[in-house]
Amino acid sequence: MKLIDGKKIASEIKQEIAVQVNEIVERGERPPHLAAVLVGHDGGSETYVAFKIKDCGEVGFKSSLIRFEDNVTEDELLAKVNELNNDDNLDGFIVQLPLPKHISEQKIIEAINPKKDVDGFHPENVGRMVIGLPSFVSATPFGIVELLKRYNIETSGKNCVIVGRSNIVGRPLSVLMSQKAVNATVTVAHSRTHNLEEVCRNADILIAAIGVPEFVKGNMVKEGAVVIDVGTTRVKSDKTKSGWKLKGDVLFEEVADKCSYITPVPGGVGPMTRVSLLLNTMLSAKKEIYK
Ligand code: NAP
Repeated sequence: MKLIDGKKIASEIKQEIAVQVNEIVERGERPPHLAAVLVGHDGGSETYVAFKIKDCGEVGFKSSLIRFEDNVTEDELLAKVNELNNDDNLDGFIVQLPLPKHISEQKIIEAINPKKDVDGFHPENVGRMVIGLPSFVSATPFGIVELLKRYNIETSGKNCVIVGRSNIVGRPLSVLMSQKAVNATVTVAHSRTHNLEEVCRNADILIAAIGVPEFVKGNMVKEGAVVIDVGTTRVKSDKTKSGWKLKGDVLFEEVADKCSYITPVPGGVGPMTRVSLLLNTMLSAKKEIYK
């Protein structure tokens, strides 16, 4: 079994991005610029946004953080989105989700200019991805496909089973995995799937994006399969300072012995998700999606 080291690959990609940023700056142009809009003080969102800002600094991007309190109105947020849409000094921006209940997330997502939608959540980018046009692809699916590529894992003609059909992971990933560049034969499984264990056992590439810690057991994995664990659930732990630790959707101890490759949690998919936002911002700065 080989461990897929997402942290190492993400760090290599960051170095590649930093080289490109240097070239841009040496030409006398401004560095790529990403903005993040953060509403309220949710602990998870604060952490994710702080990582995004830190990542930008590491590769030489400019970043801006725009904060609102929980009681911001939908109209105020839409006005800010409109302002960012029209800011020529900005290559892309994200509105950190979730938003407070009185604001429609879908309305905010649809208000973002698709050309600056580096999260890849706008229906125009999702639609472009589905028909194989250049598009901003949401970070986790983008990162997973990049990880498979960088490990030279054969995907063509392979049976890929994705457990989970969310709009940010399972569903877009199923499209990417079936595209001609990847050529996998894809099954999307979910909570209504019959005989899930058997479906999973048929996978050459098994991707778990469920959010149920250690759901995938050894008996659900074919000998020699590639296993990608997207799950990140915080569970209580008396062994860490913080009092919690991250658990994946795969029971690592049982599955690792059976598979050919496996991603750890943490250190697998997570770092690739982070770096994919940087990749999308660079693609936007270079006008490679919407030419
Ligand atoms: P989500 O929106 O809650 O979707 C979960 C999916 O799993 C749903 O499609 C659901 O089926 C399916 N599911 C739930 N229980 C199941 C069961 N017992 N059997 C079969 N299918 C089941 O979650 P998400 O946003 O995709 O995230 C999934 C996990 O990935 C979470 O742990 C999240 O924290 C993690 N995540 C990690 C990263 C990263 O960078 N590492 C990024 C994003 C998400 P139904 O549709 O039928 O309800």
